[in-house]
Amino acid sequence: MTATLLEGKGLAQQLRAAARAEIAALTEELGRAPCLAVIQVEGDAASSRYVRSIGRLCEGAGAAFRLELLPADTTLATLVATIGMLNTDPNVDGILLQLPLPPHLDAHAAVMALDYRKDIDGVHPINAGLLAHGRPAMVPNTPAGGMALLQHYGVELRGRRAAVVGRSAIVGRPMAHLLTTADATVTLCHSRTADLGAVLRECEIVCVAVGRPGLITAEMIRPGAVVVDFGTNVQEDGSLVGDVDFAAVVEVAGMLTPVPGGAGPVTNAVLLKNLIAATRGRFTHRG
Ligand code: NDP
Repeated sequence: MTATLLEGKGLAQQLRAAARAEIAALTEELGRAPCLAVIQVEGDAASSRYVRSIGRLCEGAGAAFRLELLPADTTLATLVATIGMLNTDPNVDGILLQLPLPPHLDAHAAVMALDYRKDIDGVHPINAGLLAHGRPAMVPNTPAGGMALLQHYGVELRGRRAAVVGRSAIVGRPMAHLLTTADATVTLCHSRTADLGAVLRECEIVCVAVGRPGLITAEMIRPGAVVVDFGTNVQEDGSLVGDVDFAAVVEVAGMLTPVPGGAGPVTNAVLLKNLIAATRGRFTHRG
């Protein structure tokens, strides 16, 4: 068997086009473009690349983009004050706090300072809690993109056994909650999971967000299973690979995301959806 590839580029294009149309309508309604503010503390090259790509994404969609760039030695007080200023600015609709922060800054304290209604990457514990309760929430972009990809390819989730490998607050845990809300029966795996292969072989859907190339081998995958690889690992030659042994698993799985070109492209497009939701104020903690 050779798996059907869950390609993300086409879906990302569709999502961006839909977002562009909605942002144009919102711009008419509001008399200004929806605005995304990014807070970045200098010093991380990968962060700078990502922030530039977010700027281009906003520009292409007709949204306003504002960058608050803080020096590498900034204090937590300055960072929190910057977040507070954006929280109360009526012309800022969404805030993205670029993580990771330098080690001298308490990331949890910074995240807690965000207004959860503007938290378009769903990192605030109120959003995580709402998601865990199956309520409307700002959902982190990567797992939301994974769900969009599964939906786009018509993958049935109800009543199916699913595993998520990796339990970070930004990918694994929210993915497990989203699958649970979609009526899958979910096992959340991590570094202490005993016999990962035995757990995964039980599952019709496997989502992986670990950061270890080749962790998921063909022997761990049930024939015909749907495999979503969120892993993004830069090799020595600069190429990108996921956490799944692609060449082997593609022969066993029914569907599989390529890396690059699978979940990654959808992630950014979902960010625009969250910006629109934050702008419309659709999101409410009462659900
Ligand atoms: P973290 O490092 O925060 O979490 C990794 C998780 O993997 C932890 O829960 C850890 O377990 C688990 N883990 C580590 N080793 C094993 C193992 N041998 N077996 C099973 N589980 C293991 O990573 P992130 O969630 O931030 O990122 C994960 C991957 O996803 C990375 O490659 C990252 O680049 C990628 N990513 C992709 C995005 C995208 O848009 N496609 C966006 C964000 C991240 P434990 O909790 O026990 O330590």
